[in-house]
Amino acid sequence: SVEPVSFTLNDLPLRDDLRGRSPYGAPQLDVPVVLNTNENPHAPSPRLARALADAVAATALGLNRYPDRDAVRLREGLAAYLGHGLTGAHVWAANGSNEILQQILQAFGGPGRVALGFEPSYSMHPIISRGTGTGWASVPRDADFRIDTGAALAAIAEHRPSVVFLTSPNNPTGTALDIADIERIADAAPGVVVVDEAYAEFRRTGTPSALTLLEDHPRLIVSRTMSKAFALAGARVGYLAAHPAVVDALQLVRLPYHLSAVTQTVALTALDHADELLGAVDDLRAERDALVAWLREHGFAVADSDANFVLFGEFDDRTAVWQAMLDRQVLIREVGPPGWLRVTVGTPEEMAAFRSALLHATGR
Ligand code: PMP
Repeated sequence: SVEPVSFTLNDLPLRDDLRGRSPYGAPQLDVPVVLNTNENPHAPSPRLARALADAVAATALGLNRYPDRDAVRLREGLAAYLGHGLTGAHVWAANGSNEILQQILQAFGGPGRVALGFEPSYSMHPIISRGTGTGWASVPRDADFRIDTGAALAAIAEHRPSVVFLTSPNNPTGTALDIADIERIADAAPGVVVVDEAYAEFRRTGTPSALTLLEDHPRLIVSRTMSKAFALAGARVGYLAAHPAVVDALQLVRLPYHLSAVTQTVALTALDHADELLGAVDDLRAERDALVAWLREHGFAVADSDANFVLFGEFDDRTAVWQAMLDRQVLIREVGPPGWLRVTVGTPEEMAAFRSALLHATGR
């Protein structure tokens, strides 16, 4: 090769605040049972794949033109899906909810500003904060992985964060937040409050969405995704619901034509087939509840889960357990507090493979 071998990113004029940082990196390994990134295990049916291909073929005839910059039809469709009296003006869409979060930080964070989170939580919140030059402050969750509202209010008073991240259900713990706690935090926060509801559709009954708070809280933002319940992670579609003024703010930072015509078409077609795509959610929730019960029966500690994954432990050497599972062709995730592992809920067959591998890996 022509490049000098000793040249690394440290030799580049990298921003000081990025030096020594690690990129997001869930392993993408080719094994039969992949339960490490909270995907939906059900691929589109051949019938839906055909509908998607036909819609993309029609869109392809116009690919010489830029897409609808404001994704108007898609936002209207997503608003109709969310309900709660929301319209397209309340909704914004982007390439995955990661891009939604990035646009929020570009508009409301930045140098000299701070974002606040409650950890353990989704690792991209601090990573995107740093990437946008936003400072990061964090409050530890309590032993049940809940947010101590008193500690939250104290941290808000101390840091005066421009952006507060509440993840509900939380990744990697599965913990849903009480709506009253979200409201108290939203009332105290001086900036915007983002409720990351990537896993909203998997909640157990009786835990309402923060969408119910939007009407009275114009600085509240609820972020959602088609990657999980909608089984569409490969298409990269995330969205938010908020006051239309928030959408106006994001238009100042989004790249023009950020959401391709192909993506918009795929997402609209998926919404037309929402019943099929969301059809497995009830089964996944039942499988999740059965998994929690099974793990507890076998003496593992398990965090209550309102998501499509379960955090369990506690292991003296979780890396060894993770590796022993991988040796049995089951990929789970080494994430969360030391001693814990996270497994995504898959098909019944995948969960059977997981259970048998775990019993072998741990000698139970
Ligand atoms: N928020 C949370 C809490 C997540 O766990 C994830 C995905 N792991 C995302 C956002 C981002 O998902 P996507 O960009 O696919 O919408």
